[in-house]
Amino acid sequence: MLNKKMNDAINKQINEEFYSAYLYLAMATYFEDKNLPGFANWMRIQFQEEQFHALKMYDFVHQRGGKVVLDAIAKPEVKFKGILDVFKETLKHEKMITSQIEGLMDLAVKLKDYASQSFLQWYIDEQVEEEASVEEILNQLEMIDGKGQAVLIFDRQFAARRFTPPTA
Ligand code: MG
Repeated sequence: MLNKKMNDAINKQINEEFYSAYLYLAMATYFEDKNLPGFANWMRIQFQEEQFHALKMYDFVHQRGGKVVLDAIAKPEVKFKGILDVFKETLKHEKMITSQIEGLMDLAVKLKDYASQSFLQWYIDEQVEEEASVEEILNQLEMIDGKGQAVLIFDRQFAARRFTPPTA
């Protein structure tokens, strides 16, 4: 049986993951409007990944005999100064998510909830990958100042990104 405090904290995180999905879909619309379908695709895959993150928590809560309560999803901001700004915001957002996941892990440790600790380890590892991949893209975009013809090379590359549900 899932501890009430842990259950509430995971429910809050389910909302954060759905907000992340919504935020990335909003970023996809920004790129659609800019006629950069590859960048839009990259964000759309982020959208799918975040929904996966939320649903994995949804399943865990039910598995542990807890109760999922869904809350309203906040409206994402879509005012960006350019391509670089979008990826700066993405990195900032992922770092915030990382600290939230760490907060959940702290709670699981405090409660001696070993099942939740094991479950949350997947998210700790996932955040390492998320931050690293966004940081790499941001650094490369900074090299071209987020402008010029090189943007089109990124766009073509990002068009190939596909969503593959993690198996672990
Ligand atoms: Mg996530």
